[in-house]
Amino acid sequence: MTICMIGTGYVGLCSGVGFAAKGHRVTCVGRKKAKIDLINKGVPPIYEAGLEELLKRLVADRSFSATDDLAAAMQDAEATFIAVGTPSGEDGRIDLAEIETTSRQIGAVLKGLDYHVIVVKSTVVPGTSEKVIQLIEASSGKKAGRDFGVCMNPEFLREGKALDDFLRPDRIVIGELDKRSGDVLAGLYAGFNAPILRTSLRTAEMIKYASNSLLATKISFSNEIGNLCKKLGIDTYEVMKGVGLDHRISPKFLEPGVGFGGSCFPKDVSALKSLAEDSGCDARLLTSVLDVNKRQRLEIVRLLESKMGSVKGRTVALLGLAFKAGTDDIREAPALDIIRALQEKGARVQAYDPQAAENVRAVFPDVTYAKNVRDALAGADACLILTEWDEFRALGAKDFYGVKVVIEGRRVLSHVPGTEGVCW
Ligand code: NAD
Repeated sequence: MTICMIGTGYVGLCSGVGFAAKGHRVTCVGRKKAKIDLINKGVPPIYEAGLEELLKRLVADRSFSATDDLAAAMQDAEATFIAVGTPSGEDGRIDLAEIETTSRQIGAVLKGLDYHVIVVKSTVVPGTSEKVIQLIEASSGKKAGRDFGVCMNPEFLREGKALDDFLRPDRIVIGELDKRSGDVLAGLYAGFNAPILRTSLRTAEMIKYASNSLLATKISFSNEIGNLCKKLGIDTYEVMKGVGLDHRISPKFLEPGVGFGGSCFPKDVSALKSLAEDSGCDARLLTSVLDVNKRQRLEIVRLLESKMGSVKGRTVALLGLAFKAGTDDIREAPALDIIRALQEKGARVQAYDPQAAENVRAVFPDVTYAKNVRDALAGADACLILTEWDEFRALGAKDFYGVKVVIEGRRVLSHVPGTEGVCW
């Protein structure tokens, strides 16, 4: 099939490349000419393992390209995906500005097209796909269900493993306006080996929020237990291993540390909490999940001060800045709050991250960015490990020689005797 994918961010680009790898022809639509030119040369504007090789191959065999011409991209396609950003507004509610603009643009192009399926892939609160329909109908003069189809197809990929997750998903959720719309999307996923769940549009929207909120809840729960274990001298990782062996629970997302970040969990839990409150429901659990997470980010700074006293005038090395390993994404990364807190307390920060340093430099130009771990640790009084990059797992006691306090926010040094973590 031929697909148009609007959005060239983590989801648009990785899903677009993924569909092309499965044999479809994909055109990704972006807004920035420079980014589009890069993509068409086979150079991804984001870091994601395996993306560059695959992109280069698919661009070369013409199954994948990027453009800023939405009309041309939709003209050739049978389905158009919306994979634009849905960030948090200031009050934690979802900001639908990009979705609304995109819907109007789609409507304008749809006027001149035959039956075409619009698929909302962005994460949107229940009821949003219906708004998308209204906007498209108003700008196209066409009728949903008769002249065009509509699906809601939430994306569950994880940054850092995006291609793998896209190509081998646990499940595919197809929210459909009607059977005809859903059949087109099911056909697109025919080459995937995963159960397909077909639901209403609203149910599909809610499945994504409920999934992310449950995962975030597991993390905040683990951190609360982890803080208690630390006080009681119990190894929280051993506890969570014992907990996770229960098949009803699973061992995933039970790793205590500096809390969750990234572009999804904080904003999705906030959006669901706001939606619940707007709907007259008490969102006590979701509120606590966010509160525990916010507090957990600074737990490592509190621990550092309890070890070395005031950090004023001291040099603190940070290993890892990305919100997790395998990505250069720093949206809502715990490292940002930690840098801010250390600087407010008068510490000098020198940091190293294999992929995300340039993104953080744009926010904190006054941090010293090291080229490698050795330079980051040179002359440091203390070191905090904030991202679970594999290269940090290879470090040993001698790498930290002269650094008085080393605290892990992600557990990567369990092989180094005497290592201390934020919850262990
Ligand atoms: P992103 O900010 O990286 O990318 C969004 C892109 O859309 C940007 O490049 C922006 O320029 C582009 N865009 C916006 N309006 C446009 C328009 N009218 N025409 C063309 N391009 C336009 O966001 P993302 O991380 O890719 O997330 C996209 C959506 O997918 C969000 O709703 C997010 O919640 C959801 N999601 C993200 C992830 C993830 O891990 N990042 C996983 C699952 C779902």
